[in-house]
Amino acid sequence: MINPSNTEFRRTKIIATLGPATDSEEMICKMIEQGMNVARINFSHGKPEEQIERAEMVRKCAIKQKKYVGILADLQGPKIRIGRFKDDQIELTAGQEFILDAELDENAGDQNQVSISYKELPRDVKAGNLLFLGDGDISLRVQRVQSNKIYTLVEMAGPLSNNKGINLQGGGLSAPALTDKDHRDIRTAGEMQADFLALSFVRNGVDIQVGRELFKASGGSGKMIAKIERTEAIENIEEIIKATDAVMLARGDLGIEIGDHELPGVQKRIIRQARENNRVAIVATQMMQSMVDSPIPTRAEVLDVANAVIDGTDAAMLSAETAIGRHPDKVITAMKRICRGAERHRLSEKTSQHFGVEGTFARVDEAIAMASMFVANRFKISAIIALTESGDTAKWLSRVLGDLPIYAVSRHISTHRRVTLFGGVFPVNLDISAFDDKRADQEVVDELIRRGIIHLGERIIITKGDLTGVSGGTNVMKVIQV
Ligand code: PGA
Ligand code: MN
Repeated sequence: MINPSNTEFRRTKIIATLGPATDSEEMICKMIEQGMNVARINFSHGKPEEQIERAEMVRKCAIKQKKYVGILADLQGPKIRIGRFKDDQIELTAGQEFILDAELDENAGDQNQVSISYKELPRDVKAGNLLFLGDGDISLRVQRVQSNKIYTLVEMAGPLSNNKGINLQGGGLSAPALTDKDHRDIRTAGEMQADFLALSFVRNGVDIQVGRELFKASGGSGKMIAKIERTEAIENIEEIIKATDAVMLARGDLGIEIGDHELPGVQKRIIRQARENNRVAIVATQMMQSMVDSPIPTRAEVLDVANAVIDGTDAAMLSAETAIGRHPDKVITAMKRICRGAERHRLSEKTSQHFGVEGTFARVDEAIAMASMFVANRFKISAIIALTESGDTAKWLSRVLGDLPIYAVSRHISTHRRVTLFGGVFPVNLDISAFDDKRADQEVVDELIRRGIIHLGERIIITKGDLTGVSGGTNVMKVIQV
């Protein structure tokens, strides 16, 4: 069980993407040992059977180590890609003409043309638009569109290989957020009982609602993550935050669409907005990119991870660094070290900025959570214990950045796995539903002492509901001298 008093306390959660480099029980176990809190399964690559196997391996290793690890299923979404080249790779030169052809055979790309996966693209672009390929290292200026062909001139030149992604600067692609493949993958995510479902390239709140309904219909009960990676999502950020449970700053695609110079400001603003609305924030992509090869991060990467922590993110995500990296476990070790270091220098909040959206609370559990944090930050308290069904009160409590650990005590494994994503929250498995009010408190205290989480003489805060077993019913805050 996670126990800040004998391991070093870390609030920021680490999400690591699984891939070919992590495909052994030994490596997955090492990653969990090093502190992976959530495993990301990327549906842009691999087959459904492979994905399910990966999820099973994570849960097996987690049980072995008596830890909880969340599973995040990440859909590909309408990522637009070029097709394949006869010779797998070409070399573009600046100023040459290059054609993106919606009718060309998928494997027939050559020096002058290549096919595209999204057949509507010729209708979405016009002369003057700038298209980026790959990680944005190749750019094409649209000259004209003729039926299904987009004629471009190469501006930023270089090598171009099979299936690279395409982004339109400034956004504006009409592609819906959920493709046919996504519909199939949602069923797989339901089958693997994913704890979180991430939707790529969402445009608005409705995209999230639709995804949530489909996930439920597939037997899924996990939480929704909106990947913010398209210009429209920034414009509709308020309704997206309302509709979703968490946001992910998907800086790879987002940086191309809005320009990399916009990323720092947008990251800070969206993390703040998410927290104020009781939503979880994730910062993703190229956080420690050099560690795909290198055993240590660059100074700039250290600062990037640390700044995300200082911005108040709940979680930091690793992508290629673990999925195809040379040292998946070492990246986690390094990220853990940097998160802890940054947390020590982050100022804790005193709740004043959390008095509801308009200065008042909307819910009883929110009011209790904020009252608890108000006390916790001004009194000698050593831990906050939320007796919770769904984990929701723990989420409210963790919206205030503090230094204290928050324990989510629940009897539901789905809740234990869900809180793996909430900054500063740690799951504790305990069933107190059979006990009366007073006895329940004693059971919780005894169990936490047994686990070495709290000690005699310390003062703790417990939040709970009058009615155990009812979700959203938290209406009590108690200060207890252990
Ligand atoms: P991806 O999303 O890794 O699925 O592309 C993250 C991003 O775009 O940054
Ligand atoms: Mn993306």
